[in-house]
Amino acid sequence: MPPQPLDTKIIVVGAGLAGIGAGVRLLQMDESDFVIFERAEQLGGTWRDNQYPGCRCDVPSHLYSYSFALNPNWQQTYADQDDIWEYMQATAERFGVVPHIRFSHNVLEAHWDDGGHWVLTTDRGVFQCRYLVSATGSLAEPSTPSIPGAGRFSGATMHSARWDPSQRFDGLRVAVIGTGASAVQIVPSIQPSVAHLSVFQRTPGWVVPHPLRPIRSWERRLYRRFPFIQRLVRAGIYWQREVVVVSAFTKYDGLRGLLERQVRRHLARQVRDPELRARLAPDYQLGCKRALPSNDFYPALCQPNVDLVTEPIARIEPEGILTTDGQLHRFDVIVYATGFYVSDNPMGGRIVGRASHRLAEATSGELPCYLGTTFPYFPNFFMLSGPNTGTGHTSQIFMIECQLNYVLDALEQLEVDSGTVFEVLPSVAMSYTEDLQRRMRGTVWSSGCASWYQNSDGRNVAMWPDYTTVFRRQTRRFDPTDYVFHRAAQPAPSVSAN
Ligand SMILES: Cc1cc2nc3c(=O)[nH]c(=O)nc-3n(C[C@H](O)[C@H](O)[C@H](O)COP(=O)(O)OP(=O)(O)OC[C@H]3O[C@@H](n4cnc5c(N)ncnc54)[C@H](O)[C@@H]3O)c2cc1C
Repeated sequence: MPPQPLDTKIIVVGAGLAGIGAGVRLLQMDESDFVIFERAEQLGGTWRDNQYPGCRCDVPSHLYSYSFALNPNWQQTYADQDDIWEYMQATAERFGVVPHIRFSHNVLEAHWDDGGHWVLTTDRGVFQCRYLVSATGSLAEPSTPSIPGAGRFSGATMHSARWDPSQRFDGLRVAVIGTGASAVQIVPSIQPSVAHLSVFQRTPGWVVPHPLRPIRSWERRLYRRFPFIQRLVRAGIYWQREVVVVSAFTKYDGLRGLLERQVRRHLARQVRDPELRARLAPDYQLGCKRALPSNDFYPALCQPNVDLVTEPIARIEPEGILTTDGQLHRFDVIVYATGFYVSDNPMGGRIVGRASHRLAEATSGELPCYLGTTFPYFPNFFMLSGPNTGTGHTSQIFMIECQLNYVLDALEQLEVDSGTVFEVLPSVAMSYTEDLQRRMRGTVWSSGCASWYQNSDGRNVAMWPDYTTVFRRQTRRFDPTDYVFHRAAQPAPSVSAN
């Protein structure tokens, strides 16, 4: 007889900020019948995987932390990768989450079995649970473009999210492909040591001034002694970003125009060469793609050992990169700072709900979604950092915590009758999704640029199109009238997403 699958009430997949946050909140409501499956050997998600030089948060540290675990010890106003990763490990330890994590458990597939369980196949065996929480991250699967000849390159290659710390750059000829959020941090970090650096740009980003500074020891002492002061600072940052940035990106074009003029001055101040400046000037609206805070990216590009290549890449040769103008650029190392699979995240194809529906249908637009968290055909299932929960201006942890409020409220209400299976009403999910896409139409994200926020049909499946206070209000309580309920081991109710 095959071994019985380990039966747990709740399985969370992923031990990044969302999965650890879920663990803390479950323990806080005295729920310990859960495990967290993490494919890696350590927790940390984004902040474990992105170890490239210069990696740091681009929202202020005081905001980029859980509301239940403020960190008075941040070293800088925008924390670097090391500090955030350390904070996550300390938080998971402090709240007793670590014993619940099963490291090196890669979830290969999860499906709903109609008997009231999710069945998970991992590389360490089969498991089952009543409730499944997906916390696998929206920026967790590095995407490397398929450039002809890439496999024939004779030097070293790496993706920014799979950094090889043993790779030395001193005195080498290096290519960085991409000019997005990771590239603007990598380029100034490696420029001083390399012999030559070529930065391959497809579309220029909006590089905005970065108010980065060290947090002084007296400030840290103050926050340790009077935690409410750090809460006030955090609230100030949150509201300033809500009022100014969200208003500019979603409501008031005039305000956005004002910000654009300031940012263009940053470019003009830092890049004196008019020809280079013209190639770095974005021709789309500020905010349409993720804005890139940096004070040292433009100065690095102006150094004599750096060139900006805007000619498209034709193919990769053993010696380097051939551009469409016929020029061969020779390199020892190629760095792909080319982002992630977002709407086409392979995990979406591996989570299979009722009637063989796959989660990937939610990002392709075939299946509606409710609050970025629940989906028709996916009973007893929650997704954290799901569709349209992304923000460009504030901390993703804020959105994750809103979702956790909702998930925890749902679990508490569902526990009254432990045999209950719930599923969002298709009509509720459909009207939510339609309303969200209608609101998206008036925002900067619908102003015409192509970005990773969109799926292959051009539909924005990543961003939240409003103030995050609206999301917080919508996720405050789990409303049972939005759901259909039935008993486990009974045939599922006949609902349709159409
Ligand atoms: C370089 C970079 C910088 C960023 N900067 C900011 C910022 O400044 N501000 C901001 O708000 N956001 C930022 N983000 C977004 C960031 O991803 C989120 O803020 C946050 O870390 C997401 O947490 P998460 O837990 O949802 O996902 P992740 O951190 O991606 O964690 C997902 C976890 O799930 C695990 N996992 C995935 N698939 C499986 C599987 N099949 N089986 C088992 N485990 C699995 C992964 O190994 C990972 O540990 C940044 C992202 C990147 C990549």
